[in-house]
Amino acid sequence: MEGRLSSQWESVCGRLRAEIGEAAYQSWLKPMSVREIAGGQVRLSVPTRFMQDWVVTHYADRLSVLWKVENPEVESIDVIVHSDRLSRAPESRAARGPSAAQVSAAQVSGAKASAARAPKAAAPEPAAAEPAADEPSGDGISAPLDPRFTFDKFVVGKPNEFAYAAAQRVSEIDSVPFNPLFLYGGVGLGKTHLMHAIAWNIRKNHPGRNVIYLSAEKFMYRFIRALREQNTVNFKEQFRSVDVLMIDDVQFIAGKDSTQEEFFHTFNALVDQGRQIVLSADKSPSNLEGIEERLKSRLNCGLVADIHATTYELRLGILQSKADQLGVQVQRNVLEFLAHKITSNVRELEGALNRIVAHAQLVGREITLETTQEVLHDLLRANDRRVTIEEIQKRVAEHFNIRISDMHSARRARSVARPRQVAMYLAKQLTSRSLPEIGRKFGGRDHTTVMHAVRKVDELREHDASFAEDVDLLRRMLEG
Ligand code: ADP
Ligand code: MG
Repeated sequence: MEGRLSSQWESVCGRLRAEIGEAAYQSWLKPMSVREIAGGQVRLSVPTRFMQDWVVTHYADRLSVLWKVENPEVESIDVIVHSDRLSRAPESRAARGPSAAQVSAAQVSGAKASAARAPKAAAPEPAAAEPAADEPSGDGISAPLDPRFTFDKFVVGKPNEFAYAAAQRVSEIDSVPFNPLFLYGGVGLGKTHLMHAIAWNIRKNHPGRNVIYLSAEKFMYRFIRALREQNTVNFKEQFRSVDVLMIDDVQFIAGKDSTQEEFFHTFNALVDQGRQIVLSADKSPSNLEGIEERLKSRLNCGLVADIHATTYELRLGILQSKADQLGVQVQRNVLEFLAHKITSNVRELEGALNRIVAHAQLVGREITLETTQEVLHDLLRANDRRVTIEEIQKRVAEHFNIRISDMHSARRARSVARPRQVAMYLAKQLTSRSLPEIGRKFGGRDHTTVMHAVRKVDELREHDASFAEDVDLLRRMLEG
């Protein structure tokens, strides 16, 4: 019974993890443990009251639906607060809240949602497993680190080499080379991976150092809880005694004034003491909305490193590396196909690979181009629909104030040729069209013209920061 229950929990967790993503999983699901099942009710426990509230409002319905798929007898989920864990031996420390026993229980009725929905194939766990487990650090405010997110598993290419180098430097150097290090880029491009890698490295090289990694969301909730419990002195002390503070997804505190204020003070206190700070966000400091000017300008003081959208080569490299980690052989043409088609971000790319591998293992057949297309047809359609060349042409023309017809025209004046090159470049980056196809859409130009445009824009981006910013802005607008 015990064993069955925990294996059910594992699959439920696996499914939900695939749905909500790694960061949310680490913050909310991982610290939970399953305690018992009685009268159709599964009882889960979490270490703090706050987590209880959060899990109940955000995940309870989904948990009960998923659980019903595993075990039709389950009717509802009950989340209680209990600071010690019974059934699931934690490989990392338990969050150390006040060690009150069961504080309260919130009951959640099982959602009667259409449980018929077929569960997604759970992603297979990668074979590699070093470093062994998350090391305890400080007083337990740090979120657990994902063992897969290390530097050696990060595939480096043009779009991320700068961010990678900066991250490595921060994790190796004894002095504080730049403060803060601010990593930014779109979703699923590796920000969290790099941050965990920094933390792993510092903990390995300097075990005595207090390295704290947490999401801005968690920072905020800890702060709010401290306010509620009138315990802000303690909160401040915890954060101000760290050696390295890493806060992920800082955009989350935009508009949350009191949290920003506290963050600002913490930030200043740490910087003044020469402690390293590493932050991530989905936008550059200057483009973060709802963040106070003085905070922005402090964020801009260190090193700001952008992770660009992936290129085909990088996607291919990542796929190859993930396939190796999974210990499976995938034909080159399948990997190439995926790298061409799934251009949105690395998380989706990885998810696609996991799905075809899981499918192949399930049906016991080899992965071919056909099965890949079959298994992923929903995803492939979604990726295709994302941006059209026409949209790109329209946006770029608007942006540079030229006529759309100039995208097709033979005019070679710089004022129209450059925007046209930018549009070709973006078409290559954002769509899965081939060079000849792109050429055709630009007034029947040759594929070598497109290739030249892509190279030219790449070159300009390197030497002209404001041009690079322009192109990135366009890219983001089109992606968003
Ligand atoms: P972000 O925090 O920017 O949204 P993540 O760091 O969570 O993105 O990355 C999403 C997924 O993609 C993770 O599983 C991560 O390991 C993987 N990933 C992203 N970039 C790379 C890369 N360059 N090499 C290997 N894996 C990567
Ligand atoms: Mg992230």
